Amino acid sequence: MARYIGSACRLCRRENLKLFLKGDRCYGDKCAFERRPYAPGQHGQARAGKPSDYRIQLREKQKVKRIYGLLEKQFRGYYTRSERQKGITGTNLLLMIESRLDNIVYRMGFAASRNQARQLVRHKHFVVNGKTVNIPSYQVKPGDRVEVLEKSRKVPQILEGMETVVRRGIPSWMEVEKEKFKGTMKALPNREDITMPIQEQLIVELYSK
Ligand code: SF4
Repeated sequence: MARYIGSACRLCRRENLKLFLKGDRCYGDKCAFERRPYAPGQHGQARAGKPSDYRIQLREKQKVKRIYGLLEKQFRGYYTRSERQKGITGTNLLLMIESRLDNIVYRMGFAASRNQARQLVRHKHFVVNGKTVNIPSYQVKPGDRVEVLEKSRKVPQILEGMETVVRRGIPSWMEVEKEKFKGTMKALPNREDITMPIQEQLIVELYSK
């Protein structure tokens, strides 16, 4: 599958927000956004005029796509499904994306970033309810148990993730038994549990045009 292979830090600078795409580096003084908190490129520091509504909505969508490492087609697919569900479309969208296996692996602390989690899932290092799953977009449901395969428990990236998760903490909607290399998604998160500054209503407005 196609994937963005450019600089992750450039994306943070473009969105004017720390998106935490590079694991532990994001918390240290090597963070590119901390050093150069303006848009990349020759005109990055130029004063921008008042953005249009369309531009604001577009940037919000791009921001969420980049946080979760999704491409337009995948993101649009989530939006279409969230529209069909009961409840608030924007919230449904975020909860669906949060339930992806790669995000759950990251949230449980078995990877230092979502990008790394996606790679580890693809390389078959995890089982869900006893079955190997190598599909990053797999939807984890409340009560599902995610476990690191016995033979993968020495993989450096997984151990690094488990060490660095203390910086961001494990959300209350999951339970992790670190010494057993496993965790359970206790419930779907509430909207308030997603703490990145996201205004999902702007994405709904953009796609509703
Ligand atoms: Fe973004 Fe992390 Fe790079 Fe900082 S180090 S700019 S938070 S990806």
